[in-house]
Amino acid sequence: MDRGSLEALQLKRLRDTVQKLERVPFYHAKFEKSGLKPEDIKSTADIRRLPFTTAADLRENYPDGLLAVSRDEVVRLHTSSGTTGKPKALFFSRRDVDTAAELLARAFCMTGVTRRDVFQNMMSYGLFTGGLMMHYGAEKVGCMVIPSGPGTSERQLMLMQDFGTTVVHVTPSYAFYFADFLEKKGIDPRRQLALRKAFVGAEPYTEETRRKIEAALGVDVYNSYGLTEMNGPGVAFECEGKCGLHVWEDNFVMEIINPATGEPVGDGQTGELVLTSINREAMPLLRYRTRDLSSIIPEPCACGRTHRRLHRITGRSDDMLIVRGVNVFPQQIERVLMSIPQIGRNYLILLEGLDDMTVKVELSPSAFDGQVERLEELQNQVAEKLRAELWVRPKVDLVASGSLPVTEGKAKRVIDKRSL
Ligand SMILES: [Zn+2]
Repeated sequence: MDRGSLEALQLKRLRDTVQKLERVPFYHAKFEKSGLKPEDIKSTADIRRLPFTTAADLRENYPDGLLAVSRDEVVRLHTSSGTTGKPKALFFSRRDVDTAAELLARAFCMTGVTRRDVFQNMMSYGLFTGGLMMHYGAEKVGCMVIPSGPGTSERQLMLMQDFGTTVVHVTPSYAFYFADFLEKKGIDPRRQLALRKAFVGAEPYTEETRRKIEAALGVDVYNSYGLTEMNGPGVAFECEGKCGLHVWEDNFVMEIINPATGEPVGDGQTGELVLTSINREAMPLLRYRTRDLSSIIPEPCACGRTHRRLHRITGRSDDMLIVRGVNVFPQQIERVLMSIPQIGRNYLILLEGLDDMTVKVELSPSAFDGQVERLEELQNQVAEKLRAELWVRPKVDLVASGSLPVTEGKAKRVIDKRSL
C-alpha cells in the first residue's frame, strides 16, 4: 500500500476507534473533560488532542473497565504481569485474535518463512501473549508448529532433531543458555540441526547480542517487538534487511514523545514509544505509554515496504538507573560487554551501599590462561570501556564461565540493594 492510502486508512480507523471509545466510561470522561468530540479528529496529527493511557489506568480499571464490547463478544483474555499487585487484563474478540495472527503471519513471511518451515515455539504459553500468539501466526503461514514451550533443553533438542525444526522463537537469555547446552553436548548446530532462523524477543537486546546468538547457533536472528496491551507480539518486526522494525501502521499509530513532558520529539530522536491501536474491537487503547525507548527511522526501507521503521528498543524509561547522579541504562552496559571477545554471555549489575555499582561478568570459557595479571588487566580494560560509555566507572568483577545464575525465562540483570 502506498503511503497516501496507508495514511488515509489510518485516519479512518483512528476516527472509528475514537467513536467507539466514547462508549467506554473511562475515555468518555476524558473526552468530556477536554471538550473533545470524535469529529474533531480531522488528521492523524490530531491524535495529540487525545488523552494518554498508562499502565496505571489499566490497573485502576481492572478487570474490565476498559472493555469496549460486551463480555459475550470476548473470546480470549491475556494478562501482562506487573511487579506488584494486580496484572493488566487485555481482552480479545474473535476478530482481534484473527488480526493478531494475521499481523504475525505477515512478519513471518517478511523474514522468508514459508509453509515448509517447522516452527518450534520455545516461549511460554499461558496468560503471556508471546507463546500463543506466535503459535497462531505460524499456523496461519502454514508452518508445522511444535508448541514445545520453555521446557527442558534435552526435550527441545530431541524435538529439533526428530522433527527437523528450522525456526525457533526464544528469549535472548535462553538462546545463549541453549547454545551452551549444545556446546556441552558436543553438538554443532550448523551441521547437526536444520535450524536457520530464530525470532528473538520478549527482552530488549543489543546488536552485539544478536551477532553472538547468530554465531553461537548458526542462525539468522530477527528482532521482534510487541506488548500485550497491543495484541502481544508482532507490533513491529524486522524484514530481511535487519535494519529497524517495520511497525504495522495500518493497525497502530506510533508516536515518540519526551517522557518527561509528553511532547513529540523529532523524527530520528530517541524518546518514549506511544502506541494507539486502531484496528481492535474488544479493547482499543489510545496513546498507550509503552515506557519503551526508541526512535522512528523516517527514510523508506530498501525492501520497499511503506510501513515506517523503529530502531531497536534501547531500554525502558523505567529501567533507567541513576548512579551517582548519572542516568545509566542496563542496555548500555550490555552493549559494551558484548563487544569484548574475552567476555562471556552472562552478567549481573549489582548496586550496593550508598551508590556503588559492580558489574559481575563471566569470562568466555577459553579466555583465562591462569595468569592473574592478565585477568587484572582485562578487568581494568572492561571498567575503562564502561566508564567511557556510562560516565561512571563501575567496579568490574570477572568470574568463571558458568558461575552466575542462569534462567530459562526472562533474565534478571539488575540487583539494587542500595540504601539510598
Ligand atoms: Zn524493510
